[in-house]
Amino acid sequence: MPGSPVRVRMAPSPTGFVHLGSARTALFNLLYARRRGGVWVLRLEDTDVERNRPEFEAAIYDGFHWLGLEWDEGPDVGGPYAPYRQSERLDLYRESAARLLQTGGAYRCYCTKEELAAEREQAEREHRPYRYSRRCLTDPPSGRTEFTVRFKLPDAPERVEWDDLIRGPVAFELSELDDFIIMRTDGTPLYNFSVAVDDHQMRITHVLRGEEHVSNTPRQLLLLKALGSQPPAYAHLPVIVGQDRAKLSKRKHPEARLSLYQELGYLPAAMLNYLALLGWNPGSTEEIFSLEELERIFDLDRVQRSPAMFDWQRLDWLNGQYIRRLEDAELIELLRPNVPELPPEKLAEAMPELKTRLPRLAEARPLLEYLWEEPAAAELDPEALEKLRAARAALSEVDWQPETIEQALDAVRDEHGWSRNALFKPLRLALTGRSISLPIHYTVALLPKPEALRRLDRVLA
Ligand code: GLU
Repeated sequence: MPGSPVRVRMAPSPTGFVHLGSARTALFNLLYARRRGGVWVLRLEDTDVERNRPEFEAAIYDGFHWLGLEWDEGPDVGGPYAPYRQSERLDLYRESAARLLQTGGAYRCYCTKEELAAEREQAEREHRPYRYSRRCLTDPPSGRTEFTVRFKLPDAPERVEWDDLIRGPVAFELSELDDFIIMRTDGTPLYNFSVAVDDHQMRITHVLRGEEHVSNTPRQLLLLKALGSQPPAYAHLPVIVGQDRAKLSKRKHPEARLSLYQELGYLPAAMLNYLALLGWNPGSTEEIFSLEELERIFDLDRVQRSPAMFDWQRLDWLNGQYIRRLEDAELIELLRPNVPELPPEKLAEAMPELKTRLPRLAEARPLLEYLWEEPAAAELDPEALEKLRAARAALSEVDWQPETIEQALDAVRDEHGWSRNALFKPLRLALTGRSISLPIHYTVALLPKPEALRRLDRVLA
């Protein structure tokens, strides 16, 4: 509906965990609406009673709230087009179906499952694509009471077309479609019908959704026309693919689950920034954007058509940037739940090195765990033990600060002509039990001096 105030909607189905792609669709909807002073509607497509659960609805709210995405109308916040759960709109779909039946835009189909299966098999045997025979349009069997409602494809025009705001002109021949079912025998709507009715009744002007819905759009356009609606504009967002170039799927790709990023300690602002770059670019080399900035500059003309590749490295890099921009006190607060064993003063001591190194908050734990959990005594070969002995001697003399520890260890290396790795590796192993740590002088300094010396003695004994 060009000219009307922009109204966009996000229509997730609460049938499982929140998909990364849903979060991206939500973000693009929000950005599109904000840039144009429009309204973003959250509508729940929950007519699949078998698969819907209240906890999945809660997961949608949690995931979107975590990212800072706030909708203007929705099941939880209400709005002028309530209700916003499809399960609460069943009467509206029935009314619309009744109207289509009256005007001849739809008809009752009494065919049984077996009869339809037989039609399908016949088509297969004849190597032609299946289309419903229209038997119930021309010659319905009598005496039956159970029926579905089928949409009656119009005779003309022969094509359904739209100018996709991302993909450009798209066209489907009517011959690719058939009289599809819009209401089941139990009076519940099928997906394409409920979407069309809702988009019509909720005055949706722009539909931004995943590319997997392109093939649904001709059906929805036909339905909208039959419902007397001015159809919205459509923008189909590119799929997100994993490093294997396959579409991110809930089954195969752990990275498809939005809550994973919360668990791993990505900052919501970094995640949001990353999602914006999954299929959109700003037209410059700039990569860091706040939600407010995105609301000002985002538009569909910079959304790509080709698949958007998920890239852990880029996400980690971005998250690291956001971590580095935090005030120490903020980062300490954020890290505390990951390392409840550590007093905040200890975290403050580790801050300079931790801040520049952490790709995500959860990584703090493996780096710091040695501070409260003594590792198993490392078993070192005689050469490594020699290095450790020299380090122990130097450390016992030193004033316990990262800088002085660094100087002392460098002096040991210079004296013996040892490489950094030769000296630091056994030292790190003896103190932390790990081969990765903060820089060695911090690793040492964060332990109280007597404790560090004790751990070295234990290995040297
Ligand atoms: N419920 C659909 C989904 O979760 C969205 C349908 C739409 O946006 O039209 O993919």
